[in-house]
Amino acid sequence: MKLLLIDLDGTIRYGTDNPKGFVNNPTQQAIFPDAAKQLQSYYDRGWQIIGISNQGGIEKGYVSLDAVLQGMRQTINLAPQIYDIYFCPSFTPPGTEVYRCGYRSDTGAWGSLRVNLQNYPVRCGYRKPEPGMLLMAIEDCVCRPSEVLYVGDRPEDEQAAAAANIPFMWAENWRAGTDDYRDISAETLYLRLEDDL
Ligand SMILES: [Mg+2]
Repeated sequence: MKLLLIDLDGTIRYGTDNPKGFVNNPTQQAIFPDAAKQLQSYYDRGWQIIGISNQGGIEKGYVSLDAVLQGMRQTINLAPQIYDIYFCPSFTPPGTEVYRCGYRSDTGAWGSLRVNLQNYPVRCGYRKPEPGMLLMAIEDCVCRPSEVLYVGDRPEDEQAAAAANIPFMWAENWRAGTDDYRDISAETLYLRLEDDL
């Protein structure tokens, strides 16, 4: 199994009411057409796809937790290739909270939870550029993925991937269909993960 970790805002989705691209209103969002195409291509090739998103607007009071959850549900409705989404509501680094949401694979019901971080002895924060959400998504896989890729549109995405020691691709290149990224062996990846977890 292969694991595609993907940033949301500016990478696969944008706010249709917001020139900066962030999704502020759950219903005012769209998926970039070339991102939809790539999501389907990865999905068809057997990759599990997990969204990874900073949502510091919650801590800042710009947006409610409930609105963000509604927005995530709408994102998965628009891009059903996404299995689950992790987001960090913290604005203050390093980020000490994570929520996970998605449709349950057994019942099809929508669900969300505040992750119990006691289960993840990760010695880092969760708000990107900290690598906590990336390491958590890998750790949560039922079986260890043979390949992992993180795609994002901002320097903190690239830094988070580097801190987790996983391959990174810029959103623009990924959406254009580039398959060229710095691969590292699964063995190297897991040695590094065991160091960090
Ligand atoms: Mg982004």
